[in-house]
Amino acid sequence: MIQVDLHLHTKYSFDASIHPKTLVDQLYAHPFIKAVAITDHNTVEGYYKVLELASAYQDILIIPGVEISTEEGDLIVLGVAELPPKPWNVENVIDFARKRGCLTVAAHPYRAYGLGDLTKNYDVDAIEVLNGASAPHINRRAENLAKAMGLPGVAGSDAHHVSELWTAYTEIQASSDIDDILKAIKKGLVRVLH
Ligand SMILES: [Zn+2]
Repeated sequence: MIQVDLHLHTKYSFDASIHPKTLVDQLYAHPFIKAVAITDHNTVEGYYKVLELASAYQDILIIPGVEISTEEGDLIVLGVAELPPKPWNVENVIDFARKRGCLTVAAHPYRAYGLGDLTKNYDVDAIEVLNGASAPHINRRAENLAKAMGLPGVAGSDAHHVSELWTAYTEIQASSDIDDILKAIKKGLVRVLH
């Protein structure tokens, strides 16, 4: 069992301020969250910085990821350390992710920049049903969407600033291993908490 914040931003996102060093220190100090997915907007630069710094620490895991601003809305790719080729539309990004054994997650589907009901048209792997930066009724709609689509629901803080870290996280029945975690999410061996 591992507790993971599956959605957060570093200062390499245009709208975020979290320094990679602060993130690594806070993750290491956290009593039970021991893994994070770095999901910056349209860049993997922050992921590489965090990864480099994290190598000096034991027992924490950094999952590569990115939140792509597609033409239709925000789509998170988990397990990837490179950007998909443009044009960035949902279909292309899903295709890119599938070829690499990565997962796609519809980020905060019912908030601004979310895919909304359009999500139903696509073969995403999971729905973000608990986003730390979304209002409860917005998250509830996402939860209903996941149920309607028969997809796993995941959680992440969507932190852009240090004070917003760890407000939501996913408990995954997996070991501290990226492949294992991605497979467990796909199988729905997850629980969302905040
Ligand atoms: Zn985000």
